[in-house]
Amino acid sequence: MPTLGHRTRVGTLFGVPVEVTPSWALLLILVFWSFWVRYTTVFRRHSEGVAVAMAVVATALLLGSLLLHELGHAVVGKMRGLRVSSITLYVFGGATTASQPSGPGDELLFTLVGPTVNLVLSLLFWGVTGVADHFHLSGVAQVSGEAGWLNLLLGVFNVVPAAPLDGGHVLEAVVWRMTGDRAKAVRVAGRAGGGLGGGLIALGVLELLFVKDGLFEGLWLALIGYVVLEGSKGEMTRAWIQEVLRDAAAGVLLTEHSPPVTKDTSIRWLLRNEFTYHHVDAVPVEDGGELVGVVVAGDLERARDAGKLEVTVGEVMRPLAEFPKESASSPALAVLDQLGDHPLVILTDPNGRAVGAVSQRQVGLVLERLRSLRTPPIRWGAWGG
Ligand SMILES: [Zn+2]
Repeated sequence: MPTLGHRTRVGTLFGVPVEVTPSWALLLILVFWSFWVRYTTVFRRHSEGVAVAMAVVATALLLGSLLLHELGHAVVGKMRGLRVSSITLYVFGGATTASQPSGPGDELLFTLVGPTVNLVLSLLFWGVTGVADHFHLSGVAQVSGEAGWLNLLLGVFNVVPAAPLDGGHVLEAVVWRMTGDRAKAVRVAGRAGGGLGGGLIALGVLELLFVKDGLFEGLWLALIGYVVLEGSKGEMTRAWIQEVLRDAAAGVLLTEHSPPVTKDTSIRWLLRNEFTYHHVDAVPVEDGGELVGVVVAGDLERARDAGKLEVTVGEVMRPLAEFPKESASSPALAVLDQLGDHPLVILTDPNGRAVGAVSQRQVGLVLERLRSLRTPPIRWGAWGG
């Protein structure tokens, strides 16, 4: 999945936050515009007012179907015990962010439900078309008939076995079940995605160049191909991370050892020392040898900008309860999973003392370093604990 950019929460469905990105507005406009052109110029049997109303309803049905597809993933994910953190609507439809399924069976269920929702919707819409035809409601019949076809198309396109499409995750689950090797499964699905993305871009460019009036469709096809291609690269990275961190302990995710500070440390000192020279995002705070909170880089910078350099750490620290705690010897992949939902995970030693806090940015730095060293998948054992 490409980076989605800034998200705004618009509501919560079944306990899952629903967010939209600014690019979603583009989808809304494009879809409405396409329907409006279709109903006013191609099918001119309706009055202007009726055509606009039809375009509004058709747009709502299509975008609603995309949301229901994601909601299907989210609800089944929750039923199978995954942590579902959000549904995001953006220009290419939607995405559901959830923790990794623990086995191929859960992966299969979580994935297949999305396209199934579209296939069920297409049958429902065609049912409505049948009833509307019976009562000679031609506008209703046309809109619901098209919603039926579009849902069929969505369902079928999504089961093409190429990641990041749902079908790619089905392929992944099958290879995972057959070989027992998850990283290999992710790689196979990612390669297929690369092929599909490249193919769609080529098709789009051909249509754009050689098909009469093919500019819009060709461009759209090439863009979808680009998104699939980028998504497949993300999947390949995921496979590599799975492989390289398979047996590593969470401690390897700490870029620097950042010892805890006491509550009465001044912000001035902390900014000059830990945050400047150690590039850390957070430092644990102790009081009498006991972990009591975490001070985060962003909060320190805000205090500095407000001119409050003599304020103590105790006044700007965040309560421990805000962040999950994990042993530094627990699996690195489990901590990575936690970072999907939390900005920081605090790592502790066997005595429960904090050894540091891991952030997504820090994990990125560690992975970047491993990549530049071309580190092969190695058995790390409990190193870092
Ligand atoms: Zn899906």
